[in-house]
Amino acid sequence: MGNTKKVRTAGRFGSRYGVGVRKRLLKVEDKQEKNYACPFCGFKKVKRKAAGLYACGKCHARFAGGAYLPITLSGSIIKKTVAQKAFVSKNKALDEIIKTASEENKQEIEQVKKTEKIDKKEEKKKTEDRKNKKEEKKKTEDRKNKKEEKKKKEVRKNKKEEK
Ligand SMILES: [Zn+2]
Repeated sequence: MGNTKKVRTAGRFGSRYGVGVRKRLLKVEDKQEKNYACPFCGFKKVKRKAAGLYACGKCHARFAGGAYLPITLSGSIIKKTVAQKAFVSKNKALDEIIKTASEENKQEIEQVKKTEKIDKKEEKKKTEDRKNKKEEKKKTEDRKNKKEEKKKKEVRKNKKEEK
């Protein structure tokens, strides 16, 4: 019962934990169980030991990677920029990777770019909103101060008149 044709390895959970969670698991599970090529010796003997930790069964090399895959897209970008010591913007780095990427990866990269743009727009909006709020506060405070000054002046005038 563990494996089914329809839900594959998620069959071991039956109907538990919710559809969304089980689908997310399916996305990574078969990939994380695979043997990968070792970046040090080249043998296809790299296995995932824990989240982000990989070890080669041939040369016993251990190294860090993505949580479920030894190499991830964003991880490779960071590795490249660190190696070049050229900290360009993420979009530029992505453009360079697109040149050599396969069709499947290209779509993934485009999606990353889109989400990046949306994030930046939202940040801009937030900072603008903050600025506007600050200005409004200042204005209302100024108005208050002016009113108080007027009152004080009137009080002084009244006192003088009384004398
Ligand atoms: Zn190795």
